[in-house]
Amino acid sequence: SRTPLFAGNWKMHKNVKETLEFLDDFLPLAKDISSEIAIFPPFTSLYAAAEKIKGSGIKLGAQNMHWEDRGAFTGEISPPMLKEIPCDYVIIGHSERRQYFAETDDTVNKKVKSAIKHGITPVICVGESLEQREKGMTLSVVLAQVEKALSGVQIGCGNDLIFAYEPIWAIGTGKVALPSDAQEVIGAIREKLCKLYGNVAQDIRILYGGSVKPDNIKDLMAQPDIDGALVGGASLDAKAFYQIATYN
Ligand code: 13P
Repeated sequence: SRTPLFAGNWKMHKNVKETLEFLDDFLPLAKDISSEIAIFPPFTSLYAAAEKIKGSGIKLGAQNMHWEDRGAFTGEISPPMLKEIPCDYVIIGHSERRQYFAETDDTVNKKVKSAIKHGITPVICVGESLEQREKGMTLSVVLAQVEKALSGVQIGCGNDLIFAYEPIWAIGTGKVALPSDAQEVIGAIREKLCKLYGNVAQDIRILYGGSVKPDNIKDLMAQPDIDGALVGGASLDAKAFYQIATYN
């Protein structure tokens, strides 16, 4: 039994004031959501968000972190800093970080290990480019990302990590994946997780991300292996995010 998770990746949007305004609108709505909700504001808005959501049941996460606890790493944020906020989750290896900020499978692996060690649940992002899909490489690319992200990673239970399958061509483009195509990849990710971890993989949540909107979430959630969504643009609007989280 995997509790559906709707995660809002705000990317580089919403300062403190805008974060609090969003929560003023969203918190009253969130009372009728039975799924789990998590928001991922920018670092500068995390503390204000944490104070505001206390007691609401909404979870909080960061969009990135360094793997070391401290040190001379100008501009970076450490796992203990996120724990202090407190953050429950951290997004690792988003395609925008892989594309624009030189994130590699190796840094993703280091961050995944560090997050789990610190009790922060990583939301590990994988996904193919349009060119890779057109060449028929989708499954090999995605499964290699999964395998490298988890190299040497031990887990105690299925809640120790979360995956998000985000085809790059679907991110911010309005072109959502066909539910059956998303299921094919996410089902293959689950099979790979079963090979690595055995039965506990049935408890690992795997989200879909890429142009998720109120009008396409229901068909995605009808797929057997899709356990929720990592939502970008539509999570910036309280009403749209609420409609996605209550897709039924
Ligand atoms: P959009 O929902 O804006 O396509 O973004 C998806 C995403 O990258 C979430 O991490």
